Amino acid sequence: DADRIDAIVKLCRARGLVYPSGELYGGIRAAWDYGPLGVELKENIKRQWWKSVVQGRHDVTGLDSSILLPSEVWDASGHTEEFVALLVQCLSCHQRFPAAELAEQYRSRTGEELNARALSALVCPECGSRGRFTEPGLFNGLLETRIGPDEPEDRPYYLRPETAQGAFVNFGNVRASERRRPPFGIAQIGKVLRNEVLPGDFLFRTREFELMELVYFVPPEETEQWHRYWLETRNGFYRELGIAQENLRPYEHDRDQLAHYARRTVDIEYRFGFPDREWDELEGIVDRGDSGLAAHADRTGIDLSYLDRASGARYRPFVISTSVGVGRSMLAFLVDAYTEESTPNPMGGKDRRVVLRLDRRLSPVKVGVLPVSRSADLAPQAVAVTEELRQSWNVELDDAGAIGRRYRRQDEIGTPFCVTIDFDGLLDQTVAVRDRDTLLQERVALDKLGDYLTSRLRG
Ligand code: ATP
Repeated sequence: DADRIDAIVKLCRARGLVYPSGELYGGIRAAWDYGPLGVELKENIKRQWWKSVVQGRHDVTGLDSSILLPSEVWDASGHTEEFVALLVQCLSCHQRFPAAELAEQYRSRTGEELNARALSALVCPECGSRGRFTEPGLFNGLLETRIGPDEPEDRPYYLRPETAQGAFVNFGNVRASERRRPPFGIAQIGKVLRNEVLPGDFLFRTREFELMELVYFVPPEETEQWHRYWLETRNGFYRELGIAQENLRPYEHDRDQLAHYARRTVDIEYRFGFPDREWDELEGIVDRGDSGLAAHADRTGIDLSYLDRASGARYRPFVISTSVGVGRSMLAFLVDAYTEESTPNPMGGKDRRVVLRLDRRLSPVKVGVLPVSRSADLAPQAVAVTEELRQSWNVELDDAGAIGRRYRRQDEIGTPFCVTIDFDGLLDQTVAVRDRDTLLQERVALDKLGDYLTSRLRG
């Protein structure tokens, strides 16, 4: 629900996961900076994706192609012409809306198509005034830039809106240097930019974001089977990292919703629970047919086909792509992990506890080291334990304030284990290890602490 998303936004800010971007200057609408813990969480998500899609497989290699490409790449891919939205603007509040979205809302409410007459009766979703819309106009989703002093004035460069084209134009390079034969994939994680008309919903829709994208080349007759395979595999990725299946579902696009490069698209939707809609796209699994390679082969005259020496068949591989935003998936992981619960306290009452039940592989801090007090007797051991564990994991030493409040803080950022340094432990060289989820404390000998945590944090 909406309160949940609000609570997550507040928590992210208070705990250094995500800050509004450029806040000193009033900020940019719907742009965010990742703080100290946000960077850790984001890197952990990327690492798990890379492990699952690249490192753990024999058939996928990595790539890091550049944000700037020759503009002809985007002509060939169809983006300069097709990556556009039809917009209408409200004459009262000046807010712009994608015509398609208004049309969809109108259709679902009235069962009729939105036409000029209906437009004049439509109520603005922002300010509520009726029939005050402009005619639809075109809006380009590509962000433009200029490079170098000598570039001609008439042709801008584009900041890439997806990474897939970088994979297509490197198809020949990767195939040759890696001696790959389809089916094989090229995967990358990188920044992309899109001039979104209506960014918003926290990390869900921003103009600048990181994309984790796989481009998987297959023999044409195997397209359907690989599309199904990747849909299942990518769904399994979220399940394996702790997202409940009841919050994931496939959504097949109608023909008229398909992107210009797609033959078929099935999204993995997540139950974000936004105020105006429960579900929305988390990841897109797209059958791109041969559109990617064909476009570049046609334009450059370079043959981007593959000759299968065994059968003698020459063909242009088809492509299945899977794409998910790092920030959007982070939001899904946060929404799924965010739990408010009440726990019994020693006085016989109940405490309210917020806990991020993140999979431990994703948790930004793996171990919190908490001396029970700021006593000078405890400090050397707390520092020594922290320094040792820091060699293996991201560890936080916190000795400021009441211990109960420090546990809560670690719970709120999803730290799976807290190591408590207390006076009993000084005597027998032990510490207490507290489990975030069960709240059970176990005494562990200091010289066994590393092994104990290793076996529990594996993965
Ligand atoms: P939408 O219809 O939501 O605009 P799309 O279908 O145009 O998205 P794709 O090109 O399929 O977007 O994007 C692939 C993935 O990239 C999405 O599933 C999402 O995870 C992520 N993504 C797309 N746009 C944004 C954005 N503006 N901010 C953050 N993540 C995004």
